[in-house]
Amino acid sequence: MSKSYDFDVITLGAGSGGLSLAERAAAYGQSCAIVEHGKIGGTCVNVGCVPKKIMWFGANLAHQMHDAGGYGFDLTIDGFDWATLVGNRERYIENINRYYHQHLADLDIVEITGTGRFVDAHTIAVGDRRYTARDIVIATGTRPGLPNVPGIEHAITSDGFFALDAQPQRVAIAGSGYIAVELAGMLGALGSDVTMFLRKRHVLGEFDSLLQSVLFEELGKCGIALRTETEITRIGLRDDARIDLEDNQGIGLDGVDQVIYAIGRYADTASLGLEQAGVEIDAHGFVVTDLYQRTTRENIFALGDVTGRAQLTPVAIAAGRRLADRLYGDRPDRHLDYEWIPTVVFSHPPVGTIGKTEEQARAEFGDRVSVYQTRFTAMYNAIGGTEVPTAMKLVCVDEEERIVGCHMIGPGVDEMLQGFAVAISMGACKRDFDDTVAIHPTSAEELVTLR
Ligand code: FAD
Ligand code: NDP
Repeated sequence: MSKSYDFDVITLGAGSGGLSLAERAAAYGQSCAIVEHGKIGGTCVNVGCVPKKIMWFGANLAHQMHDAGGYGFDLTIDGFDWATLVGNRERYIENINRYYHQHLADLDIVEITGTGRFVDAHTIAVGDRRYTARDIVIATGTRPGLPNVPGIEHAITSDGFFALDAQPQRVAIAGSGYIAVELAGMLGALGSDVTMFLRKRHVLGEFDSLLQSVLFEELGKCGIALRTETEITRIGLRDDARIDLEDNQGIGLDGVDQVIYAIGRYADTASLGLEQAGVEIDAHGFVVTDLYQRTTRENIFALGDVTGRAQLTPVAIAAGRRLADRLYGDRPDRHLDYEWIPTVVFSHPPVGTIGKTEEQARAEFGDRVSVYQTRFTAMYNAIGGTEVPTAMKLVCVDEEERIVGCHMIGPGVDEMLQGFAVAISMGACKRDFDDTVAIHPTSAEELVTLR
């Protein structure tokens, strides 16, 4: 332990980023404390990736039961019990929470419960206690945003979705990004009647156009109503607890059970006392950091969602581990390269992507770009009788056809992308894919046989 401070390092926030930093710092012999005012594990474990993926598995089962007929099964489904799925999900999460508490205790990382706030660059106040550290790491994540619409108090966000103890039968979802399409796909598969309010004419607006168009088409085919260029302008709660919506198209929607907003997340940094420590935030409230996770104050670092870069769990974890390697592991140039970050959207069907979209590549490289793409129905779906499309695109640059983007949608791409991401981030070219022996019969083989 440092002589003049209570700890070598204090982390604000026990989510994916804070935990990874503290674990690795402790492994290097640093004395660590971690301040958390919510549940250990943060967003990912409690109200993000983990509960979402469990609901997604449930929704996949619903699709598979539908497909079972094509494979000769004569199934009678007697219903779906939301409470069973949610109960099992929450028990699974409680086990993770318990594991983390024990893990921190085993590593001698001190857990401090409460809301942390900077008093100065080396001091954090939690309630009426003060704790000092040589280094402080801000990993406080983000919160779901809500727009300024009359009646917004009757709407929920993904946090509220995970708190639902009964399945909403009629649901309106506002937003077009990761969470909106994931929740729409799950709720639709589990039998809810879903209407999406899209303020533009697309979903996943930042993804490659192939993924946008195939997913948009597929959401519609799955029975999800898509209201394009439509924004909710008023949310009214009725006496029967149902909700009536007005929108800018004058059409509206009456009698929904829940309105869910999924329109992006913001960093709640205003309450952290950052000005006391000389840490700057940007115009959106995200903590300003360089590639080494350094803030504008030399002993204070920030990582994960609060920095506004690629709000993904593995990104927060990778940044935390690399920062600990650099600060305490004698690896002075260790840092996360934000260029090659693979990501999967757990929509129905899922989307996987890494690198530049075709549009980005053409803007940057012009006619040096070559594109290979395919669209087909996977064998499983052909027999199952549900015409779910699979589509894939490789974006290449120059004569050597270095792969700068890989975009996929279809059953199984969520598990397919990780291995391809290794090759692409190592600089693979199209000929490397072509020279790889295919695995047959799979959907993945299409990516190494593109013409
Ligand atoms: P967080 O995990 O949010 O942790 C921050 C912690 O800080 C929180 O526990 C919070 O309570 C605490 N905190 C905040 N302020 C204070 C304070 N002043 N004092 C004490 N404690 C404080 N990512 C993926 O990679 N894959 C997915 O499938 C995926 N699905 C998602 C689904 C949903 C619905 C959501 C919302 C997110 C999903 N994400 C997913 C994103 C992922 O959850 C985040 O990128 C990740 O949790 C960020 O980690 P973090 O450590 O930066 O922040
Ligand atoms: P996203 O950033 O994915 O998408 C939000 C989109 O909603 C905007 O891009 C915008 O798209 C649209 N929007 C913004 N404001 C409004 C509005 N007032 N009314 C209607 N639509 C609006 O945000 P999410 O909240 O879905 O997710 C937050 C982050 O969490 C993600 O960016 C991702 O990093 C992470 N996440 C990751 C997951 C995963 O890895 N599978 C799953 C879930 C979340 P447009 O204007 O183009 O319509």
